[in-house]
Amino acid sequence: MKQYPRPLAKLIGELSKLPGIGYKTAQRLAFHILSLEDSEAQGLADAIAEAKREMKYCSVCGNLTDQDPCIICSDKSRREDVICVVESPKDVAAMERIKDFNGLYHVLHGVISPMDGIGPEDINLKSLIARLQQTDVKELIVATNPNIEGEATAMYIARLIKPAGIKVTRIAHGLPVGGDLEYADEVTLLKAVEGRREL
Ligand SMILES: [Zn+2]
Repeated sequence: MKQYPRPLAKLIGELSKLPGIGYKTAQRLAFHILSLEDSEAQGLADAIAEAKREMKYCSVCGNLTDQDPCIICSDKSRREDVICVVESPKDVAAMERIKDFNGLYHVLHGVISPMDGIGPEDINLKSLIARLQQTDVKELIVATNPNIEGEATAMYIARLIKPAGIKVTRIAHGLPVGGDLEYADEVTLLKAVEGRREL
């Protein structure tokens, strides 16, 4: 590997730690940053520092926010009796994009994964229980990802919450829009059949 002067090597090293950024991309980004005007490069550095300083997790739902409670939890026009449980703040953003869900969220910051040593106490579940005890929630929509860990987490939450008389629902999984039955894998097809609805 070619040896770069220390400051450049350091920048490449830091960039290559980012998800989806390999060494070559990190190199390209580092050279790009060095070609920027001082003010532009400083703007990038400031944006990183400011985001790290100002952004925190909402004390109610766990979403990323610069105000606490977050803008969603503070929005009185939203339904307070439906909570959508998601794995990460990115999922809140995805749900918000469809502009159809008008309830509140709860961000788990992970999923139960015994293989990785992540148990129920390692994700943001305790505050969900406390929240359900303090409020009058009627439905919990579990929107964890449709993989083994996401399903296991959904089942765990359902078993935990249902005895309290709260309806626990799971988002439907199935064929992607524009997809083709012929090419769907068996699990996807099975889930699609399970999630069928009356027309
Ligand atoms: Zn919140």
